[in-house]
Amino acid sequence: LEAKEEFSHKTLAMDVMRPRRSDPPLSVLTQDGMTVEDVETMITETTYSGFPVVVSHESQRLVGFVLRRDLTISIDNARQRQDGIVSTSRIFFTEYTPPQPPSSPPPLKLRGIMDLSPFTVTDHTAMDIVVDIFRKLGLRQCLITHNGRLLGIITKKDILKHVAQIANRDPDSILFN
Ligand code: ADP
Repeated sequence: LEAKEEFSHKTLAMDVMRPRRSDPPLSVLTQDGMTVEDVETMITETTYSGFPVVVSHESQRLVGFVLRRDLTISIDNARQRQDGIVSTSRIFFTEYTPPQPPSSPPPLKLRGIMDLSPFTVTDHTAMDIVVDIFRKLGLRQCLITHNGRLLGIITKKDILKHVAQIANRDPDSILFN
């Protein structure tokens, strides 16, 4: 058995969420200002199933959540079928799209593919509660916030790993859960 503190201290959402301290920052989309090319680069350089959408990098205020699959399909469709959509077209997840300068390509509006109310908990939420919420609501991911700012993400697989870890550490807990 490892250090005793592991049993006495309650695991919190902040202990399980990604990114970890040593990881690169969370991959997020901003609600306006990104180009088709920026988003395509993010899709090819990561393998995540989805991306939180924030107001801006500075504010880290959560706006919604977009699945990688829906982003890929929508951008590919727009490139093929929508007039004027090119690498430099700006992507908007906002309700209103400001008029684009006359020399710019038309914008690509993707609010329709965004989940407007992704499930969130604060970083201080106890993990037994988070596990319970995942089970009861059948979540695939949950976003973690602190004072309204987006901090991280926990996926269903992160939850399964966490539950397996606890079971290894404390075999009796299986009997009682
Ligand atoms: P899964 O957990 O099923 O493999 P993902 O591929 O989406 O699902 O996530 C892989 C890992 O990366 C998980 O530990 C998750 O917490 C983390 N993660 C998921 N989405 C993001 C993101 N947009 N930015 C940074 N990390 C993420």
